[in-house]
Amino acid sequence: MPVVCAHLTEVTFLPEPSTRECGECIAAGDTWVHLRMCLECGNVGCCDSSKNRHATRHYQGTGHPTIRGVEPGERWVWCFIDEKAIEV
Ligand SMILES: [Zn+2]
Ligand SMILES: [Zn+2]
Ligand SMILES: [Zn+2]
Repeated sequence: MPVVCAHLTEVTFLPEPSTRECGECIAAGDTWVHLRMCLECGNVGCCDSSKNRHATRHYQGTGHPTIRGVEPGERWVWCFIDEKAIEV
């Protein structure tokens, strides 16, 4: 896997998400568009096209800067700090 940035040099593989749901949206009775997963703690949240943008809010709340797309076939990661995405 190519190095994306300083925050992703230790990622050697893409872990699979433990869930295919945004738990925070379900708790609020909302829906989402796409799911993203935090590469630091595995938290699954919804994308910026979703009403609640839980993946971005997770980063803002925790400082965990890297996520991956977890829709079927998605093989990319994104760093919020560097605002940089790469296919892996
Ligand atoms: Zn970075
Ligand atoms: Zn959500
Ligand atoms: Zn996290």
